[in-house]
Formats: sequence, structure tokens, C-alpha cells
Amino acid sequence: MIFSNGARMEKSNGRYSFFSNLKYHYVNLRRQEPLVFWMGFLALIPWTTASILGNVLPSVVVVGLESSWGIRRYFFTLIVLILALWVCTMLQNMAQAFMENSRTIYRAHYSKPYVEKKMKVDYDVLEEKNFQTQANASYTAIYQGRGIDDATLRLSTFLNYLIPAAVYAVLLARVSIWIIVLAIPCAVIQIWFLKLARQKHSEQHPHLSNYSKKLNYLTNQTMETASGKDIRIFRMQDWLAKKYMDNLTDMNRLYGKVHNWYFLRNVADAGLDFLRNGLVYTYLIYLTANGRLSISQFVLFFGFANSFAEQMLLAMREALSFGIISNTFSSIRDYFDTKEHRNEGKRVAEEEVDEIKRAPVTLELRDVSFTYDEKAKPVISHMNLTIAAGEKLALIGLNGAGKTTLVKLICGFYKPTSGEILLNGRNIEDFDREQYYSLISVLFQDFTLLPLTVDENIASVPKDEVDQKRLQQTLVLSGFLERYQKLKDKGDSMLIREINEDAVDFSGGEKQRLLFARALYKEAPLLILDEPTAALDPIAENEIYLKYSEASRGKTSVYISHRLSSTRFCDRIILLENGCITESGTHEELMERNGRYAELFELQSKYYREQEAEKIRLRAMEA
Ligand code: ADP
Repeated sequence: MIFSNGARMEKSNGRYSFFSNLKYHYVNLRRQEPLVFWMGFLALIPWTTASILGNVLPSVVVVGLESSWGIRRYFFTLIVLILALWVCTMLQNMAQAFMENSRTIYRAHYSKPYVEKKMKVDYDVLEEKNFQTQANASYTAIYQGRGIDDATLRLSTFLNYLIPAAVYAVLLARVSIWIIVLAIPCAVIQIWFLKLARQKHSEQHPHLSNYSKKLNYLTNQTMETASGKDIRIFRMQDWLAKKYMDNLTDMNRLYGKVHNWYFLRNVADAGLDFLRNGLVYTYLIYLTANGRLSISQFVLFFGFANSFAEQMLLAMREALSFGIISNTFSSIRDYFDTKEHRNEGKRVAEEEVDEIKRAPVTLELRDVSFTYDEKAKPVISHMNLTIAAGEKLALIGLNGAGKTTLVKLICGFYKPTSGEILLNGRNIEDFDREQYYSLISVLFQDFTLLPLTVDENIASVPKDEVDQKRLQQTLVLSGFLERYQKLKDKGDSMLIREINEDAVDFSGGEKQRLLFARALYKEAPLLILDEPTAALDPIAENEIYLKYSEASRGKTSVYISHRLSSTRFCDRIILLENGCITESGTHEELMERNGRYAELFELQSKYYREQEAEKIRLRAMEA
């Protein structure tokens, strides 16, 4: 997998450790964007140098005055230093701008595998709540706010503070280790106050956002023309203004409390800065007075001590967001690590698949049971069913009988809880998913049309790869040809108005025919149609049956419906009730048996007859 670097073992308590995530990020970044990766480190050179030069410069000014440098040497040294400082600052700014501008690059690298994962993962996993949660968390991490781009910048900013701080520590250690020892607890206390203020802020966050939600609502109401009428007629102005002001006052009061914590933090910050600087200052003066430091060294080390404390504090502040950064990568990794296929690595020889495609297939369900929830009753229970090669099978049953579940099992979207499904005698779990999908064509109830041309939607391939001869045959068989020929741009007409302004719109029945054409274009040996006539009127429905009967010749087909009269042309009808086959036979056989099928058939016929009579009555009244 693209994003796997074997760090799965480093997961502890369900999350990955920070260092494991850090490695994951940098390994990926080096592979995907080597320039950004190296720039993050290279930028440290001008960054650190500029910081040190900034401290060295005042010291050199004093050295020049202290010693017997001539005016030329003095100015020359200063100019060289200023130029060096300028160059370093420029390079530092350029590197920073480069890193900022590269922000969107990181997203791009994660976006593609994110989308691919969603499209490739086993369908049952896609439906799982846990996977959906992981996918949402991963989406937020990739596309929003404090996501990977922010994390990348923060890590590099952290280094930009940490490395100069480390260099200053080494330089200061030459004078006294105590300057470093003193600065660390001061910084820790300062960070503690910052954390405390942020914690108090986040505790109030739900209340604050509640206030702003109310304020937004009130503001929006005043801008809506619909509420504008009510506001005027019912004199709501004063009431709304009062509500608005009350909310605003309460919100400001709460903000005031939060700001008090930040104020406390600022006071603590200033006090600790004063204490630390005072002590360092006194100590350096003491060393200077004893002749252990020159004036210029005093200036230099005082600058170093200040910068050390400042950079260390900033590095620690950046480190506060490490938890969020780590969570970002954990979410992404959890999502990417989900296994894509339960039968990953399994594959049937291509010759065998090609052979299967050449003729109608036999499908067998052997003692198949399926449960969505372990504790619930099976939706499909110990089902045994063989669909012979070339057979037209109708699967009927009332809503909730388990028809759609059975289709999903046959499609390989779900794995039977027990039992097996065989295609030409081979367990469908032996096939690679793509291989298996290439053998079936389905017209689903909840279909997807893409914002592409009509031809591309039917053929599911790019325009220049559409087989025109096959397309024409499909259009005839599906009954879509007439509508197709009426289109201004024929097969080049675009679909989906929301995305393409000039897109064509189809009625429910027309869409159904288009989808039927798509199902037929695939030329798979197993054809499944799940309630294909749900959006059609009875005349169009009858027409589709005839088409279907013709189109499914030479294929094994399963036709699902809850409308019993629509399946009479099938070779065999099976009635599904509570996940079991309760009756099986031709329409005539089942009617003769006078069982549940006959009862349902009579009931439905009566209902449709009544509906038709009602329509005729209404038409007569209109006339
Ligand atoms: P039909 O297609 O015959 O109307 P379904 O196969 O859709 O029947 O549903 C059969 C039973 O399985 C119903 O009781 C339904 O509530 C349940 N069911 C369907 N899908 C799910 C699901 N994703 N999770 C849990 N139960 C489901």
C-alpha cells in the first residue's frame, strides 16, 4: 500500500505513538516531495545564522570601539556582518514562503489515495459505522484546518526554534551552565500558564459557540426576506434587538472570564521574564565586574541568554500542538490501513475468467445464511438455490423479505455468515474482487449517474474507448434508442445539471432505460435487475419486460421485484419470506398451488385494478 511503512506495530492503546507518526510523515514527505522535505532542514541554516548574527552584531559594535581597529576595518566588519544578516534573513524568508506555498501539495498526495480507498474497499466495510468514522476523521485531517499541511509547517517551525535554542545552549555553556538551568524551569512554568489559559478557553468553548450560533441565527433572521415580513407585521424589532444584545452581553461576559486567564498568563510571563533576565543580567555583570567577561562579551552573552530563553519557549509552545499533529496522522493511518479486500491476494487464472465470460453461468447458493448484526435474526436463513445457466429467475417478496440483501450477497458485497456461493462450481470468494465484478452486471435501485456524456455513462469508459457497434445494439435492446436520437448532441450530451449547465435532464423512466442500457453494455454473463420498473408507469413497465426478456437471452439473469405481475415471463419465480424460499415454480404452477404467491398475486391484482379504476374515474371527472 502507498502509505504503509510498516509502522502498524507501533500502535499503542489504539493510537500510534508520536514518534511513529513523525517517522511516517517524514518518510512519506521525502518520497513524495523531496524538495519540501530537504527545504525544511536546509532552512534551518539561514534561520539559525540570522538569529546568531543578530546577537553578534551589537557585540561587534562594542568590540570595535573597545579595540584599536581602524575606522576602515570597523566599518568593513560591520558592513560584512550586516550584509550576511541581510542575506540570511532573505534566504530565511524565501524558505518560509516556499514552505507556505507548498501547503496544498501535501493535501494532493493524500487526497488521491483517500478517494481511491473509499472506492476500492469492500462494500460491507464501506457501510460499517467504524469505517465511516475513520473516513470522516481522515477527511478532516487531510482537507481541513489543523490537518496535515498545518502539521508539516508546525513541525518545521518547531525545528526553527529548537535548533537555534540548542546552538545558544552550547554557546552559553561556555560561560555558565546555570544560565541554561535557570531558563528551563522558567519556560516550563510559562508553558504551564499558557496551557492552563487554553484549557480554560476550551472548557468554555461549547458555551461560546452556543452564543455565536444564536447570534448568527438572529443576524440571519434579520436578513431573510421571509422573516422580514413577520418582523414588520408582528413588531418583532425590539424583541429581536433585545435578544441580540442579551446574548452579546452574556457572550462578552464569558469572553471576559477567558481573557482573565490569558491576562494571568501574560502577567506570569512578564514576571518570569523579568526574574530570569534580572538574574542573568546580575550574574553577567558580576562576571564582567570580576574581569572574567569583557564588555563586548557581556553584550554578546546577554543577547544569547535572551534568545535562548525566547527560542526555547517558542519551541515548547509549538510542541503543545504535537498531540493534535499526532492525532491527525493516526486518523489518516487508521483509515489507510483498513484492509481493502477480504480476499486480497486471491485470484483465479485469467483464462478461466475469460472462459466464464463466454457463456451463461450457473450460480449456486449452498446453505447460505446472513446476519447484519450477530445478535439479530438472520436476514437470509439456510438458503439453497441453484440458478441454471441461461435461466431467467424472478425473485419476489414483500418489502423487508431480504431481496436486496440476497443481491448484495450474490454481488460479493457481503460474505455469507455461513454457507457458500458458487459460480460455475467455484466459490466466489476465490476470485479477485475486480475479476468477480467483471462477471456481473447489475441495475440497482439506487443508481449513480456521473457528470459525463451519455455514451460514457452507458459504456463506463472514456469517450474514445466506447465500442459504437455494441452501444447501438445496447440502445436498441434497452429501448433507449428513440430518446437517444432525439438528444441534440446525441451520445455527447452531458448529464447532471448541478455540474454541467447544458446537461440534459431525463425523466425517471428514461433514466431507467439508460441504466438498463448500461447494464447490457457490460455484456456480463450474469445480469441482475433490482426493481428496474419502480419508476415506470404500467405501459412503460410492460415494454421494459419485453425488452428485458429479449435482452437477457444468452445470459443467466435474476429479476427482483415486489410487483408480482411483472415476473410472469421468467422461467421460474421464487418467493422470499423472512429470508427463506417459501415457494418456487412458474407463475402457472404457483397459481395452481393456491398458496402464499397466489394470495399475494390476487391481493396485488385487486389493488392495481382498483387503482386503474380510480384513474379512469378521475379522468372521466376531468373530462
Ligand atoms: P428487501 O430488499 O426485500 O426489501 P432487504 O434485503 O432490504 O429487503 O432487508 C431485509 C432485512 O434486513 C430488513 O429487515 C432490513 O431492515 C434489514 N437490513 C437491510 N439492510 C440492513 C443493514 N445495512 N443493516 C442492518 N439491517 C439491514
